[in-house]
Amino acid sequence: MEHLEHEVPMRPPVIAYFSMEVGLDNAVPTYAGGLGVLAGDTLKAAADLGVPMTGVTLVYRKGYFRQHLDSDGHQTESPARWRPEKSLDPVTTKVSIDIEGRKVTVGAWRYRLKGIAGHIVPVYFLDTAYPENSPWDREITDQLYSGDDHLRLCQEAVLGMGGVALLRALGDTSIRVFHMNEGHSALLTLALLEERTAGRGIRAATRADREAVRQRCVFTTHTPVPAAHDHFPLDMVRRVIGEDRVAGLFAIDCCPESTLDPTYLALFFSRFINGVAMSHGEISRSMYPRYPINSVTNGVHGVSWTAEPFCRLFDSHVPEWRRDNIYLRYTINVPLEEIRNAHHEAKELLLGEVERRSGVRLDPLAMTVGFARRATAYKRADLLFHDVERLRQIARAAGPLQVLYAGKAHPRDEGGKALIRRIFDAAAAIRNDVRVMYLEEYDLALAKLFCSGVDLWLNTPEKPREASGTSGMKAALNGVPSLSVLDGWWVEGHVEGITGWAIGDGQNSETDAAREADSLYDKLEKTVLPMFYRKPLEYASVMRSAIAVNGSFFNAQRMVFQYLRNAYLVGEGLAPQP
Ligand SMILES: *Cc1c(COP(=O)(O)O)cnc(C)c1O
Repeated sequence: MEHLEHEVPMRPPVIAYFSMEVGLDNAVPTYAGGLGVLAGDTLKAAADLGVPMTGVTLVYRKGYFRQHLDSDGHQTESPARWRPEKSLDPVTTKVSIDIEGRKVTVGAWRYRLKGIAGHIVPVYFLDTAYPENSPWDREITDQLYSGDDHLRLCQEAVLGMGGVALLRALGDTSIRVFHMNEGHSALLTLALLEERTAGRGIRAATRADREAVRQRCVFTTHTPVPAAHDHFPLDMVRRVIGEDRVAGLFAIDCCPESTLDPTYLALFFSRFINGVAMSHGEISRSMYPRYPINSVTNGVHGVSWTAEPFCRLFDSHVPEWRRDNIYLRYTINVPLEEIRNAHHEAKELLLGEVERRSGVRLDPLAMTVGFARRATAYKRADLLFHDVERLRQIARAAGPLQVLYAGKAHPRDEGGKALIRRIFDAAAAIRNDVRVMYLEEYDLALAKLFCSGVDLWLNTPEKPREASGTSGMKAALNGVPSLSVLDGWWVEGHVEGITGWAIGDGQNSETDAAREADSLYDKLEKTVLPMFYRKPLEYASVMRSAIAVNGSFFNAQRMVFQYLRNAYLVGEGLAPQP
């Protein structure tokens, strides 16, 4: 791409991007949340920028799961079966890897992601559902985050070791960088070490061998609490990947308390490590003080997450924005009336979908607040209802107000499921004053409607657990300001009263639900609602700045450029290809 050659000093190395989940197409339900959506957006931006990247993930024929909510907010689940052959191309190449001493055949399906100028980024969805495998092995790649630790470890072996083997069998000898999106794919480092020590065995690996692997690997960590990482008992690891490889692990101190934490494996073997926002980088450095950890703040794929009415608006003012999202900076002069019109159309698209699903016609003129993300305790979807009476008073005095929720709880996350029920209870309690709806089946399509169609994007995580968060970035692209706790990306994206509003003052590093709820109510009552209803042009000006200031920066093109400049194009990546 001619455009790329001005920006990148030389041809980037070939990069293999590994992720346990990838969300790039609503018809391919192989993701659970932000981690997978980020992977999809990264691969899409790489395709747009002409970066030679290849994605690797698992196929999950039963997807993550389909969510059902009864009238009390009780969640049940069913498999999200889909047909890979409808969306993906079959790959004839197969490889075999050792799992528990058995030969397991690993094949793949390919998704050809086409960038804006035609560059293709292939994404391989690894599969074990072949007749030559045992019935148990056929199901290793059946469902995302569904099984016990043992199945999870087998999935990680297929992803890391099977992924490297498959890329090699496809003839991809030119890969210079292996990027691990979170620690699930860390076993790929052992596969690379085995290539180095071929014939000698992994136990015989020397420091130079390990350094050679290290020169190839890049690791993005996502989780700011160690308890949320995988910890596999070593005897299980021994059984699954073999005594020899475990002996190799002992040389590198990644097995605290007789468990394998793949995060340590990834940390040890990566020459570039990063957190996903500036503040998350800091937290990660304090968690892992022995490793040099950078930050590359996440971004979202601009064209994918911009609603049609805003695509048209941007096309008419800054047509270059599709090719280069930085041009969104120039939306700062777009007439406010046009911003308002585009937003009304986007809101209508959302309200139409709500009506189609529920029969309920929401008020297009009422302040509509959106909250949608995985339903898990630390995201605190119910903070808005900390004091239902107060919220009722605010709606009566400064409203009207309506609130839209969506998000799945992991089938075994009882805390997450209870959170959904609490929202249903609060909705019932406040129904005469605030309309609250919870939509089932949050997915890429619904996320786009939500993030672009509401008037305000709410985020209330427990600090510091929101490593980055990306849905607020999708909202910003569509001119939807955030009202959010100062955590993750919002620490960087927040300019008070310009791009949105903060909950809390950012001074307290400890989370404090009562204080944060109080601040949330204050902002709604005294700032956001009065501006929305009484100074609509001022509100439109905040919307416009959200696009110009945040949409132009928190996008995946900028993120991929940062990976190029800070990770891919340094060290070994710059060496001439063999
Ligand atoms: C963007 C997205 C997420 C991540 O949202 P966060 O704000 O990071 O929690 C989760 N699920 C879906 C379907 C998304 O599109």
